[in-house]
Amino acid sequence: MADAHVSSETQRFIDKDMHYGAHNYHPLPVVLTKGEGCFVWDVEGKRYYDFLSAYSAVNQGHCHPKIVKAVCDQAGTLALTSRAFHNDRMGDMLKKISEVTGFPKVLPMNTGAEGVETAIKAMRRWGYRVKGIPANKAEIIVAKGNFHGRTTTIVGFSDDPGAYADFGPATPGFVQVDYDDLDALKKAITPNTAGVLLEPIQGEAGVKMPSDAFLVGVRELCTQNNVLLCWDEIQTGLGRTGRMFAWQHACAKNPGCTFKGDCPSAGKACARPDLIILGKALSGGLYPVSCVAAKEEVMNVFDPGSHGSTYGGNPMAAAAAIAALEVLIDEQLCEKALALGVKAVARLQAGITSKNLKEVRGRGLMLAVEFTTPNAHDVAVELMEHGILAKDTHETTIRFAPALVISEDDLNAALDKIIAVCNTY
Ligand SMILES: *Cc1c(COP(=O)(O)O)cnc(C)c1O
Repeated sequence: MADAHVSSETQRFIDKDMHYGAHNYHPLPVVLTKGEGCFVWDVEGKRYYDFLSAYSAVNQGHCHPKIVKAVCDQAGTLALTSRAFHNDRMGDMLKKISEVTGFPKVLPMNTGAEGVETAIKAMRRWGYRVKGIPANKAEIIVAKGNFHGRTTTIVGFSDDPGAYADFGPATPGFVQVDYDDLDALKKAITPNTAGVLLEPIQGEAGVKMPSDAFLVGVRELCTQNNVLLCWDEIQTGLGRTGRMFAWQHACAKNPGCTFKGDCPSAGKACARPDLIILGKALSGGLYPVSCVAAKEEVMNVFDPGSHGSTYGGNPMAAAAAIAALEVLIDEQLCEKALALGVKAVARLQAGITSKNLKEVRGRGLMLAVEFTTPNAHDVAVELMEHGILAKDTHETTIRFAPALVISEDDLNAALDKIIAVCNTY
């Protein structure tokens, strides 16, 4: 087990967190104080490449000046009204999200988990009120290995004991099937199935990438069976995989489809969802902002009093989200991530010669190195000492997700360090 060398100053911060905080995380022993672009600095002044990017919340880079300015200006003008009144910023955010997703309707929340809860409520109500499922019988199909957040309902349909153990009883109405297994999904659909909730790439499970045929096949099955398809793109969305949304990679009839409004191959060789959940990079890391975007028929199931959040759609969130989406588009971060990602996977594949390497994989700048041995945590600790911050997942896999604003030179410099460290394992 690699040992981290920690100074007494750093240790004092860590001790305070451990003393006063709940021990619900196991962070690497580094204390960060500043961020800019793809870099962060610790309290001792050491600079790191941030290859986690807050689980892809800072796709636009740390403290992007345009988003910082938007948030600061809004903070000094009007921060929170609640939805008891209108505010003059929310509508522009909803319009922007609608344009980017191609969906006519948007419901703003704060955290990703709240977005997922919103999607679950929407699918269930649609199941009863539109599809005609008998009361309290609605089922939602999810995948094994899923990660959708931490609420009691969401962990109730996780198959990771670390996430669900002793938090039961689980909310009923969820059915688990193997990920990337179309037959299993087909068999699980019943007349009471309201929706299918999936990540188009399973991030927390270790960047598990299903076949494009699976994504398209799920869409087909949902259409044939009058079942809603919901992609949780909280982590994969907003440029991370080299397209605005990860599902767009799978569109066979129209490769590289940018999905504006009506899909040309709607319901056929296309993986377009009926609703999509966004979060994380929706604010570029400046503020918790999430949402569900959906078809009219789905979103119209909500009426006054049926859902909401005190902070949802507040002016600060709106200012952050508008700026964050503008940065993604203006700086062409999807295109950048796509081009850099191809080169990064090739460089890692060619460079890592460790006999314990199982696979290098990735799409855009959502990358993973998987070992045959359970040493990913040790690799993460050693990478930290070499100035790269990344997180292990499930003992054998380490995920790399730099900010999409990273320059090719910085990316290559960081990849060279990653290759050198991986080759010692
Ligand atoms: C992070 C994440 C969530 C939960 O988001 P929070 O903001 O942490 O609640 C849900 N789904 C996926 C795929 C995620 O990566």
